[in-house]
Amino acid sequence: MRNTADVVIIGGGIVGASVAYHLAAAGCTNVVVVERAAQVGAGSTGQATGGARAQFATPINIRMSRYSIDFFARFEEATGHTAGYRPNGYLFLATSKQHLVYLKETGEQQWAEGLINVEHLSTAEIARLVPQLRVDDVLGGAFGPTDGLLSPVSALRGFLGRARESGVELWAGTEVTAIDVDGGSVAGVTTSRGRIATRAVVNAAGAWAAQVARLAGVELPVTPLRRQLVGVRASVEFAPDLPMVIDMATGFHFRPHTQENIATRDLLLAWPDPDETPDDDTTFEPAFIPKFLKVANKRVPCLAGAKVDPASCRAGLYEMTPDRHAIIGEAPGVGGFFLANGFSGHGVMHSPATGRAISDLILHGESRLIDISPLGLERFTTGRLLAETSVL
Ligand SMILES: Cc1cc2nc3c(=O)[nH]c(=O)nc-3n(C[C@H](O)[C@H](O)[C@H](O)COP(=O)(O)OP(=O)(O)OC[C@H]3O[C@@H](n4cnc5c(N)ncnc54)[C@H](O)[C@@H]3O)c2cc1C
Repeated sequence: MRNTADVVIIGGGIVGASVAYHLAAAGCTNVVVVERAAQVGAGSTGQATGGARAQFATPINIRMSRYSIDFFARFEEATGHTAGYRPNGYLFLATSKQHLVYLKETGEQQWAEGLINVEHLSTAEIARLVPQLRVDDVLGGAFGPTDGLLSPVSALRGFLGRARESGVELWAGTEVTAIDVDGGSVAGVTTSRGRIATRAVVNAAGAWAAQVARLAGVELPVTPLRRQLVGVRASVEFAPDLPMVIDMATGFHFRPHTQENIATRDLLLAWPDPDETPDDDTTFEPAFIPKFLKVANKRVPCLAGAKVDPASCRAGLYEMTPDRHAIIGEAPGVGGFFLANGFSGHGVMHSPATGRAISDLILHGESRLIDISPLGLERFTTGRLLAETSVL
């Protein structure tokens, strides 16, 4: 067990694991990942839906996604493990002129960022792609064929597995209780298993990032927000290449539950309940099911005969920021304290780009692949917030 390390990563979720992987891939293996739960993936990563899309509105989110999706497509080659990535695509359904304008404008932004394969579909094309949808009110949509689905926990294990094979240590069942700051720079962390002296600490604590940042005297505008998922077995089969489908009017979205490339009746349904308020409660609320199915059945009428699978119903936490963009960079005023936080529900899909950016920052003092300066914490004091109008 090390008592000094080049880097300590707080949080054994997919973001911490990706940082560990990218550091190790660059030759930095004197690294400890500290996770307070007995097993990794106990936070939001273990609850996530597993969608990855590049169809965003802002250049920075599109860039983060493009790097990350390319990475997921070659995950096995890079890590020797599988993330189960399937490029089934993301299908956005527009039911108002406003939605169509949004898809057109974001499509232009995506094109400008090099994402040139998003197709704008007619109602008839949408009905052919997913015949189970009710489309009488659908005006059109957008389909991104390289967006897709993965298994968040497999990806986490792949990142961490490869990092540990290279020498990175995992301290599971260990909580970070203090961060020592000396002369404006990080000097070490105190954990429930002892102290580790280090000059670089990564906050990868997900929905709990604000509490961890406070240990270093940094105020982080990250608040937890519950999201609930419902697993169902439908009365009809859906095609093996069923995309993630998003109803822009309600935010209701669904995917095939299985990672196998087979026709399936098993679906995972998600919906951002507008009544949810910031809180770290992760209890799944059974009353959510009928409330949610009312919304879902309207878009997918055959779900009226679906059987709910209680074992796959679950709740987890989004880690929200005021502008719904991540906070990535070195904390102003605390040298060596690196933030990889506030993904606002996109931490799985953006984990490869985040890991690469943080690794570059630690090892080279700059992010070499993606300019992450728009994601700095400073934006909340300078008022240079980002505007992501995306619906999920
Ligand atoms: C229902 C749901 C669906 C989602 N769907 C998607 C999706 O389709 N696509 C997508 O990209 N994202 C999705 N997300 C968001 C995604 O899950 C998160 O953005 C992502 O998992 C964040 O990863 P993380 O590693 O930062 O955090 P986490 O996975 O939460 O890991 C943080 C870890 O830090 C640990 N920790 C906290 N404090 C301490 C401490 N003091 N000491 C030691 N350890 C500590 C925690 O125990 C935890 O394991 C979804 C989230 C939810 C809840």
